[in-house]
Amino acid sequence: MTNGKYIYLQTFGCQMNVHDSEKMLSILATHDYRPTDDIHRADIILLNTCSVRAKPEHKVYSALGRLKKFKEKNHQLIIGVGGCVAQQEGERLLDRIGHLDLVFGTHNLHRLPDLIDDIQASRRPMCAVEFYDEVRSLDIFPAPSDGEKVKSYVTIMQGCDNFCSFCIVPYVRGREKSRPSENILGEINALSKRGVKEVTLLGQNVNSYGKDLSGGFTFPQLLAHINEIEGIWRMRFTTSHPKDISEELILAFGKLEKVCKHIHLPFQSGSDRVLERMGRGYTRKQYMEKAERLREVCPGIGITADVMVGFPGEDERDFHETLDLIQRVQFENLFSFKFSPRNGTRAARYPDQIDESTKSHRLWVLQKLQKQITLKRNQELEGRYEEILVEGMSKAAKEEMTGRTSSNKVVNFKGSTDLIGQLVKVKIEKGYTNSLRGKIV
Ligand code: SAM
Ligand code: SF4
Repeated sequence: MTNGKYIYLQTFGCQMNVHDSEKMLSILATHDYRPTDDIHRADIILLNTCSVRAKPEHKVYSALGRLKKFKEKNHQLIIGVGGCVAQQEGERLLDRIGHLDLVFGTHNLHRLPDLIDDIQASRRPMCAVEFYDEVRSLDIFPAPSDGEKVKSYVTIMQGCDNFCSFCIVPYVRGREKSRPSENILGEINALSKRGVKEVTLLGQNVNSYGKDLSGGFTFPQLLAHINEIEGIWRMRFTTSHPKDISEELILAFGKLEKVCKHIHLPFQSGSDRVLERMGRGYTRKQYMEKAERLREVCPGIGITADVMVGFPGEDERDFHETLDLIQRVQFENLFSFKFSPRNGTRAARYPDQIDESTKSHRLWVLQKLQKQITLKRNQELEGRYEEILVEGMSKAAKEEMTGRTSSNKVVNFKGSTDLIGQLVKVKIEKGYTNSLRGKIV
C-alpha cells in the first residue's frame, strides 16, 4: 500500500457508528492512511452508514450521488460504504451505484486495509458482508486522538437477539456477541493510562452482556470490575433494555460510586397493546416500576429514553398512553422518532400502517410536551451544586468551558482550558432546554 494517503470518513447514525468509525480510522492508520476533513484531498472516501430508519438511509444515497463527480475527476479515488446499509444491501449497492468500489459489512471492519489493497491491485469493486462467529472488530482499539482525552467509548457487545418487530438491527448487526471480559478490562486499563477519565460502554442491549459467554462476567459483575480501575472516575453505558434490567443492576447504581447517575432506558410506547405488537417483552406498568425503583435506589438519577410514534395500529388512545407515561416518568430528555417501516421486519408487513401526517402531528405534540418537562427539570437544578467532568471548550461561546453532570446534563461555565479532564464543582445558575449554565465554586 502506498504511504501517506488521505482518508475522508463520514459517519451516519448512532454512537456505535461513531465509535466504529474511530476503529476504521485506527486500523487504516496502521497502514499509513491519515484522516482528512478536506474531501478534495482524499484518496479514499468512506461512508459509515445507518439503516435503522429511512431518513439516515436516504441521506447515504444522497451523499453517494454527490460523490460521483469526485470519481469522475480522479479515477484512482476509492469510494466505500460500510455499516448497516452496506450489510443490508451488499452486492446490490455495487450494482446500483456505478462509482462505488467497496461495500463492507458490520463484521468486516478488520478487513478494510486488505480490501483496499485488493481493489488497488485489481481495480475491481469488492463486497465483504459475511457474518463471523468471532467478531474481530470488537477488539480493535481506536488510536488516541485529541478529542478522546477525557472520555471514550468502549464496545462490550455487538448485535442483538431481541428481534423487536420494528427493528432492523438483528439483521444488519447480527446475533448478540459479547466481547470477552478480560479484553474489555484490558482496553479500559489502557485508556486510563492515556488519561481517559470516563468510559461509556456500548452495546444494543448491554443488560444481556455475558449471556453468550461461558464463564465470563454478567453485566453488573463487569461494572464492579471497571469500578476498581484506577484513573477511571466515571462510567456510563448504553443502551439498556427494560425487560433485562435486573435488581442487581439497579442496586449497582447505589453501590458502585463510579457508575454515573444516568440511564438511557428506551420505552418505545406507553401502550401495552402497542408494546405487545412491538415484541418488547414488558408492560407500561413494569417499565414505570423499574423507573421508580431506579429513583429509589439512586435519587437524582437522570432517565432518558427512546420513543416512537405512529407504530402500525397506534390509535389516539395508545398515543395518549404514551403521553401519559411521559408525564408520569418525567424524563430528563427523549429521543423521539416517527415509525419508519424497515424492509424485512415484521412491523413493515403489518397492514394497519399510519399515515405520515398523523405521525408528524403526534411527534410534534410529544416533543412539545417533553421540551416543557426537560426545561422544568433543568430549572429545578437552579441554585444546586453539581460535580461536572470538564470535557473541553464550549462551542457556543468563547472563554466558556463545557462538561457534564453525573446525570449527563451539559453545563457551560466560565473557565480555562487547564480544567479539561478535571472534576469541578459548579453552582447551577440557569436551566435551559438543552443545557445548564453554571458558575465554578
Ligand atoms: N437497542 C435499543 C433498544 O432496544 O431500545 C435501540 C437501538 S435502535 C438502534 C435506536 C432507536 O431507534 C430505538 O430505540 C427506536 O426508538 C428507534 N428505531 C428503531 N427502529 C425504528 C423504526 N423502524 N422506526 C423508527 N424508529 C426506530
Ligand atoms: Fe432493535 Fe433494540 Fe429491539 Fe434489539 S432490543 S431488536 S436493537 S430495538
